[in-house]
Amino acid sequence: MEQEQVIVFPRRGGGRFSPMRIQAVGDALQRRQDLIRKLQWSIVAVYLFLLVAPVFLPEADSRAGVFDSLARFAEALFWGAWWPGVILSMLIFGQFWCGLMCPDGTLTEFASRHGRGLKVPAWMRKPALPLVFFCFVTLYEHLIDAFRSAPATLLVIGGTSCLSLITGLIYGRGKRVWCRFVCPGASIFSLLARCAVLHFKVDRARWDAAPRPAPSAVDCPPLLDVRRLRSNEKCNMCSRCSGHRQAVALSWRAPGEEIATLEPDEVRNWEAAGILYVLIGLLYGAVHWPGSPWHQQALAALQQWSGEAPVWQAEVSRWLFRHEGMRSDLAGALAALLGIAGTALALGTLAGAGLLMAASGRQKLAGALAYALIPLAGIGLALGAMEHSLSILARGGMNAWAVLPWLRLAGVLAGLAWSVATARRLLRHWRDPAGCRKFALPAFAAVAGLLAAAYQFAPVPA
Ligand code: SF4
Repeated sequence: MEQEQVIVFPRRGGGRFSPMRIQAVGDALQRRQDLIRKLQWSIVAVYLFLLVAPVFLPEADSRAGVFDSLARFAEALFWGAWWPGVILSMLIFGQFWCGLMCPDGTLTEFASRHGRGLKVPAWMRKPALPLVFFCFVTLYEHLIDAFRSAPATLLVIGGTSCLSLITGLIYGRGKRVWCRFVCPGASIFSLLARCAVLHFKVDRARWDAAPRPAPSAVDCPPLLDVRRLRSNEKCNMCSRCSGHRQAVALSWRAPGEEIATLEPDEVRNWEAAGILYVLIGLLYGAVHWPGSPWHQQALAALQQWSGEAPVWQAEVSRWLFRHEGMRSDLAGALAALLGIAGTALALGTLAGAGLLMAASGRQKLAGALAYALIPLAGIGLALGAMEHSLSILARGGMNAWAVLPWLRLAGVLAGLAWSVATARRLLRHWRDPAGCRKFALPAFAAVAGLLAAAYQFAPVPA
């Protein structure tokens, strides 16, 4: 029976990473959902402990090491290890984190098994909704400086978990409506996962030719039509469909292949704008604006204007938890907010104008080329997250900043090469309308090169 499941697609060669082995990994994950559930609930327990406990403990000294206090350890784990690790894993392997480990996914699916089971409303099905939520959450977490304070982390990350639980209690029957339609993080993960080298491949001919009676439908948590699965975009990589009808298999593909083979009708304008203004612009601003000299100038000007006006979240935090960690001045909050939003607008518009020029004014082609920037932008984002890890280590007395320029150089060059190679394949795939390839590729490489320079020479976080 298991042998039959393994023979799905023609394959070549053997070895540890052979297609057959990779397919067997998918099948093993499908068979051991019981173990995966235990892993998921263990992660939920650790996650809730690290999220809630530091709030009720005395505040850690600002120079405390990673292992000197629970709050500092939780900060290092959430922002220093988890965030860069998840970004890189999405970019290289796809959304396995979401399907196998994410505590919000576990909670929402559990709630959905016991909830009201309502139909997903039309407003929730708007495709750009998660991206809009992501912008709000990112701006808000910088407004209150959520990275350095336990109550602020609880407010942002815990608040998101509560919303996922509530969504599960109201919508779907044992499904992950939250992950598919609302999760703010998934908006970015779904872009990064298009570059991944692993995906669940569906052989439509085998699916349709499966012997009758057909096995019962796949329990796909994000409600995907597995038979028509062609993209990593919404696939949580939970592996429950692996081996179904002997037509679904975890498979290798070339890095960036899904983007390089995009068809014109698969290019969405709102998504291309999301890549330019959010994945590139907003996240660059969020990571690097606070370290820029302009931030200090804006802060000084706003402090003169606002005096000592407090932000209400800090007051609530002080009253509720007796914690001081949250950003407490209106000038600081406004300087962060305006600077990040301004950086997003400026960078997104410049990159968009460059791509439009590269595509000789063809909007569809410019949109497709925006997708080819995802590898560079994803690596730039991962580098920014790693820089946050370095700053956490430095605050604890372990100064490793010397590695930063080399880390950036290696990452940025890899991202640049990946993006340019993807754009080259994409232009070939599109057979380059009106023969603009000779101009389009060098012009795209120039835009990507400028973006790579922006990541390489970005201000270091404070
Ligand atoms: S298609 Fe659905 S069931 Fe299959 S791996 Fe993706 S999320 Fe899981």
